[in-house]
Amino acid sequence: MVNIAAPIIGLEEKKAVQRVLQSGILAQGPKVSKLQNDFALYCGTKYAVALNSGTAALHCALFTVGIGFGDEVITTPFSFIATINPILMVGARPVLVDIEPQTFNIDISKIESAITKKTKAIIPVHLYGQPCDYAEIQALAKKHKLIVIEDACQAIGAYYGKKKAGSLGNLGCFSLYATKNIMSGEGGIVTTNSKKHADAIKRFRQHGTDKQYEYTHLGYNYRMSDLHAAVAVEQLKKVDKFNKARSKNAELLTKKLANIPGLELPITGKNRSHVFHQYTIRITPKFGATRKQLAESLKAKGVGSGIYYPKPLHAYSHIAKLGYKQGQFPQAELAAREVLSLPVHPKVTKADINLIVATIKKVARAQN
Ligand SMILES: *Cc1c(COP(=O)(O)O)cnc(C)c1O
Repeated sequence: MVNIAAPIIGLEEKKAVQRVLQSGILAQGPKVSKLQNDFALYCGTKYAVALNSGTAALHCALFTVGIGFGDEVITTPFSFIATINPILMVGARPVLVDIEPQTFNIDISKIESAITKKTKAIIPVHLYGQPCDYAEIQALAKKHKLIVIEDACQAIGAYYGKKKAGSLGNLGCFSLYATKNIMSGEGGIVTTNSKKHADAIKRFRQHGTDKQYEYTHLGYNYRMSDLHAAVAVEQLKKVDKFNKARSKNAELLTKKLANIPGLELPITGKNRSHVFHQYTIRITPKFGATRKQLAESLKAKGVGSGIYYPKPLHAYSHIAKLGYKQGQFPQAELAAREVLSLPVHPKVTKADINLIVATIKKVARAQN
């Protein structure tokens, strides 16, 4: 079976966990500190703060910049639900802006008309591992004095120009969930160059304190354990190798799937690199077979595929009730109907790719 995602766990990760178990320091400790140092160095930011999920990372980022009731935060309707829930968690209003059909990222040309007096921040999502056009976002943020919180959960190691995802905005949010490019089972990180924000997030992850029993503000238990950090430290050493393998697989798929009518392949925008958290194609009506038929044919051959995401976020009731309607974000809605992600993770072999390509071509031929 070629799964759509597969964590890669080596001897290094196993040994590292064992050492933590033997040390007796299981909760937040020296491994978390090491991960924070290594992660900041990798991303090119002054600080990184480890948390227990990417969702917690986004919640912390929104909290630390002071976003709350009455504020508006601009983001995309085509992402994982965890992009938007933290906006609701701090009591702010998510203001959605449709996506660009080629990159699946927020359509920057449509952001300005969504900005109001209440807008405080933008959360661009580097979807599938491809950074947004940051120069354009930065110009808008500067003009309207907005904070930028990158949702870089899928884009560790991706470049925009000479800078890495997570070092572009005021704060960057990452996830170390089991299916991400590098993982620790569960986990999250916030990156920033602001000491003030890094310190506030360290308090927020620990009941609003950095001194035992002195609580300066509201907080949660968002701490990462040293067991998880030990895995992440080892994974981070391998991230470039993993990303390279993903890019190579993506390149091969793109070469071999070219010129199939009705099939649209992923495109990387200029001045950036794509780390292919997902390799996502569109099955358009011209393809003949439906997305479901193609996914079933792949499954029959032992190939897993995934739909990220089957519904745009404004279709979920707790978002829809904010006043959103079907038809409001046509590109996000179309993408939700057409996208299919194919396996590209480092365990995918050349033979697997040949099988995927042959299966897709056979389905295509049966239609024409
Ligand atoms: C994975 C992911 C998150 C949330 O991360 P968790 O660690 O699962 O909480 C947020 N946004 C995007 C785009 C993601 O892919």
